[in-house]
Amino acid sequence: MKAAGLHRRQLLKTALLASGVLTVFPIRQPQAQALRDTKVVVVGAGISGLAAARTLADQGASVVVLEAKAHVGGRLRTDWSLGVPFEVGAGWIHGPSRDNPIKRLADAVGAKTFVTDDDSLTIFDAAGDALPDDRVKKIDTDWERLILRIDEALESDDRRSLRDAIATLAPQALNDPGVLWALSAYTEFSRGGPIEDLSATLHDDDEAFPGADAIVVSGYDKILAPLAAGLDIRLFSPVSAITLAGDGVVVRTCTGEMAADYVICGVPLGVLKAGQIAFKPALPAAYRRNIADLGFGSVTKIAFEFAAPFWDLKTQYFGTMTAPKGRWNYWLNYRTFSDSNVLLGLSVGAYAPIADRMSDAEMAADALAVLRGVWGTDVGTPLRTLATHWSSDPFTLGAYSYPRPGNRAAQFDDLGESVGDRLFFCGEHTIFDHAGTTHGAYLSGLRAAAQVLEEVR
Ligand SMILES: Cc1cc2nc3c(=O)[nH]c(=O)nc-3n(C[C@H](O)[C@H](O)[C@H](O)COP(=O)(O)OP(=O)(O)OC[C@H]3O[C@@H](n4cnc5c(N)ncnc54)[C@H](O)[C@@H]3O)c2cc1C
Repeated sequence: MKAAGLHRRQLLKTALLASGVLTVFPIRQPQAQALRDTKVVVVGAGISGLAAARTLADQGASVVVLEAKAHVGGRLRTDWSLGVPFEVGAGWIHGPSRDNPIKRLADAVGAKTFVTDDDSLTIFDAAGDALPDDRVKKIDTDWERLILRIDEALESDDRRSLRDAIATLAPQALNDPGVLWALSAYTEFSRGGPIEDLSATLHDDDEAFPGADAIVVSGYDKILAPLAAGLDIRLFSPVSAITLAGDGVVVRTCTGEMAADYVICGVPLGVLKAGQIAFKPALPAAYRRNIADLGFGSVTKIAFEFAAPFWDLKTQYFGTMTAPKGRWNYWLNYRTFSDSNVLLGLSVGAYAPIADRMSDAEMAADALAVLRGVWGTDVGTPLRTLATHWSSDPFTLGAYSYPRPGNRAAQFDDLGESVGDRLFFCGEHTIFDHAGTTHGAYLSGLRAAAQVLEEVR
């Protein structure tokens, strides 16, 4: 999964992170029962909620985690029904360096990882013909230069979408099918929103840990085990209301009410946008405005297992220049890290919600048509198919947050501020610098726990 590596601000931030100048929230060691008489409810058992719950339980708090679904992990979940990991949500550890807390969690459970090679890529044009290597390299360079040019040209308060900025500053790029493919397969995938609705100034202003992305071949969701171990987690418990009452909180689920001293709300931005939880009193106007303003897009995955491979076994990724933009345009080849004949395709940008609305059979036919456009009748009927529908998942309603035109970075971080001194928030959408990632979600959970600790002390 490629990000615009040339970006100067990003390189600077990466260097600062690596040198330890920019501090991330530290992972606290358990301390002696600092919160012994404190009761905390955490809403949502995604990695952010689990990180918060683990930290507070380790400090002696009595913690209950209320999770709507039948499982923990939220957008971090591995399906093994193909015999190899199909990551329903997060698939890569981005920047698996020493500084990345997800890498540390993976190491702690002895996870087996595979570093993917973004440059091992064959791109097929609309006619299904493979582009020569030098053309593939040029697409990469042209895309990176374009992003850099936009970054340099725009003032920080520019309110245009990335597409509109390109249309003004480098209109010829929008007629180049290669650059358009990269804008979708790289930019729209990494940010989770369409270039027509991505902020031209913020889309690549986040931070990154150094290192090439890695797949967890032993299953990404195994990293959650140490976080969840021993916690009181109540599954099938969708929260419908959070009420601030006197010097405590009351949390309502379908089975009743639960009182606590503090509540940490770690549900996705999509759930907050849909107003599925009634906050009493209502959240402050600025908070509601931020929820409404920020983007929350989708990313759709489909995995096919075939009886035999018809593709090059050594190539990590296949790019397919499809129409409309975003339709099954990037494929991960499982034969590069396993013996399984699995290809995993991605739909991104404006096409992802369209794909989400298809039935599994319709989605398979749509994605197979793309593969047949390249490999023709060599593409047989898949033995098994797995598909995701994140934007219609009622407890997520999208994939991850992104900055829309006119948004400010602070709007993400402000969603991580407490409301009063009892209600706290976490989740990938509450931390601009690392939004849309597992490490961002995890760090936001540590931050929420630190806020509760601060409040109690
Ligand atoms: C398709 C896809 C691909 C991705 N790829 C990557 C990647 O490669 N690398 C990466 O770092 N990140 C990736 N991400 C992003 C990453 O998965 C998320 O940022 C992270 O997992 C979010 O964690 P969270 O705790 O904020 O939210 P979630 O994991 O969504 O947890 C929120 C929890 O709240 C629960 N919930 C919702 N409503 C209620 C309610 N009313 N009551 C109780 N519980 C409720 C949900 O069921 C869920 O379990 C991807 C995400 C998706 C969807």
